[in-house]
Amino acid sequence: MKLKIRVLLLGVLFLAGCGQKEPIFTQYADTAMGTVIQLNLYSTDTESAKNFSKETMELLNTLEHERLSWRLETSEVFRLNASAGAEEGFPLSEDLAHELAACLDVWEQSEGAFDVTLGAVVRLWKIDSLASGETSKEEFVIPSHEEISKALEKCGSEHLQLVAGDMVTGEAAEGGTRIYLPGGMQIDLGAVGKGIALSEIEALLNNQSDISAAVISAGGSILVYGAKADNSTWKVGIVNPLDTSTSIGTLVLDPSNWYITTSGDYERYVEVDGVLYHHILDPATGYPAESEVRGVTILTRDGLLGDALSTACFVLGVEEGLQLVEKYDAEALFVLADGEIVMSEGLAEESADAKFIAE
Ligand code: AMP
Ligand code: MG
Repeated sequence: MKLKIRVLLLGVLFLAGCGQKEPIFTQYADTAMGTVIQLNLYSTDTESAKNFSKETMELLNTLEHERLSWRLETSEVFRLNASAGAEEGFPLSEDLAHELAACLDVWEQSEGAFDVTLGAVVRLWKIDSLASGETSKEEFVIPSHEEISKALEKCGSEHLQLVAGDMVTGEAAEGGTRIYLPGGMQIDLGAVGKGIALSEIEALLNNQSDISAAVISAGGSILVYGAKADNSTWKVGIVNPLDTSTSIGTLVLDPSNWYITTSGDYERYVEVDGVLYHHILDPATGYPAESEVRGVTILTRDGLLGDALSTACFVLGVEEGLQLVEKYDAEALFVLADGEIVMSEGLAEESADAKFIAE
């Protein structure tokens, strides 16, 4: 995908009357990790916003090239996948070890609905390369049952082993965490890449003092950070999966850091003979997940967790999805095929720090 957008819009506002300077609002858009990244920054001056935007894009490109991409030979996930079947396993970086452990936790809690070992089946469907235009719709072939069941044999987090280093001193012992993938297994972090990216951006924001508030979006995932000068609530519109040009309502969030992550069958899909083949797969069948859910939005304080839960909840459906988010103290909002909205209890409470207001 050769998208290149570079927009820099500057707006300068001053607090009338008292002479005190309000933060400057800057918008910046670019692409990274195969998706559009938008930065909305409230900063002390335009130069620091510009520098921060540049630093963020560098961080995302490094993240993709050095850690997360399954396509690029330079990345850790690529090398990890190449190690599948190796007796000595693969020594993980501290970051990837931490991220994979978090993914395995959601795999366990979701009873396998979320599984980062689905790489072989994801590759078979080619839905990502279709959505990005790399493969044309005419080239799309529905995989046979036989191909799917063969690919599924290479999947399943229960078949991998993650062996943590000795943490006695507080630091991983020599060799750190090692992972052992059985032959043919392929890790795919497509479900959590944007969440990981947003968490890294939050860390970058925490390490500087020029930007007091920000709204950062990466595809369907959003980070709202800090507080605006007037300490007003954050308002985030939720796309209507049944008509993506409209919204179903707004999340109203107390000023602080939140992650809003959405998974839906309308994001990446191919339609053949009236049947929609989307990109979220049911690990139990190897086919696009089928439930009454068209879209699910998760509200958390952690990027990876929100991203993992949105994918898991899409697969699980409403009832089991609500049980899953409760385990993580997260909130969820489901939009069903008939337009009904179902949300976790926390979002409906009047006194809650995060509320949903329907359109
Ligand atoms: P998302 O849009 O965040 O829900 O992530 C979807 C992406 O995650 C897909 O494009 C696949 O790369 C991968 N994926 C699909 N199904 C699953 C699943 N059940 N568990 C984990 N990853 C998945
Ligand atoms: Mg996700």
